[in-house]
Amino acid sequence: MLQLDDISATPTRRYFRPVRGKPCTFSWRATRYCTGYRDLDTRTSVPCPHKAEVTGKSDLCWSCDQRTGFNPSFYNVERLSLSPQQQRYNMSKHVVYLAGFSPDTAKVGITSEGRTLGRLREQGARRAVVVAHTSDAYEARAHEEAIHQWLYLPETIRSARKLALLSERFDLAAVSGLLETLRERAQRELELPPLGQPILCFNADYLGDNVIEPPLVDLTEVSPPMISGVGVGLVGDILIMRESDRQLALSLKTVIGCAVEILEHVRPNVARPAQQMGFSF
Ligand SMILES: [Zn+2]
Repeated sequence: MLQLDDISATPTRRYFRPVRGKPCTFSWRATRYCTGYRDLDTRTSVPCPHKAEVTGKSDLCWSCDQRTGFNPSFYNVERLSLSPQQQRYNMSKHVVYLAGFSPDTAKVGITSEGRTLGRLREQGARRAVVVAHTSDAYEARAHEEAIHQWLYLPETIRSARKLALLSERFDLAAVSGLLETLRERAQRELELPPLGQPILCFNADYLGDNVIEPPLVDLTEVSPPMISGVGVGLVGDILIMRESDRQLALSLKTVIGCAVEILEHVRPNVARPAQQMGFSF
C-alpha cells in the first residue's frame, strides 16, 4: 500500500492506495511537501498541518521536525538533550533484529518492540529474525553495535543496493540460511540468550501471489520520475510494476514528499534508462 496525502483537502486527507494488480501511471513533480510528523507517544503518523513545501535533505518542515523530536543517533548525545518524547520512547522495550536482503546481504538494526514488523516491512527485508529483546533503546543499541563490530554487519543498506538485489535471482530459503548462521554466531560470540524466534518472511505482504521476475528495469534515475504498468508489489520503498513482458522498479525514496500525478491507466514508459546513459570514452 502506498501512503498518500491529499493536500487539496482541508485538513489534509491521508489515505492508502493498493498497488498490486492495478493498471496505473505515477509521475512525480519536483515540488516537495512535508511528510508530516510522528507522535512518539501514541506511535501514530500525522499529515503536516501546514502543507509546507520543503527543500534540502529533510522530508519534514521545521514544525513537524520539532514535533516529532526524534534523533536516530540518540546514543551520541546527552540524554537530556533529547526531546522529552524521545526520552520516554527510548525507555520503552526495544528489539534487536537481523534483516536479510539476499543470501549474502544482511544488516543489524533496532526498533521499538511495538514497531518491529512495520519497521522490517518499511525497509523491505526479505527475511528477518529478532535476536534480542531489551528493556530500553540503550541496551538494544549496545547489542547492535557489538553485532555490527563482531559480525561485520552493516547498520544500513542503501535503497539502490536493495533494488539491485531484488533484480538478482536467488532462493529466499538461502536468505533464511544466512540469518540462521548469523543468529547462531551472535548468540555464541556475544552470549545472547537463545530466543528460538521464527525466521520472518514478508513476501506475501509485499507481493501477494505475484513473483519478482529478474532482471528488473531500474527507472529510479529517469527524469522526470515516472513509472507505468500493472502493479506487481511494493518491497519496502521499491515499487515494482509490469509493462508487457518486463518488470520495472523505482525507488520511492527519491520521490518522498514530491507531488504525484496518478492516472488509472498505463502509458508507455517513454524514458528508457539505456537511452539516457552517456557514452564513456
Ligand atoms: Zn510539516
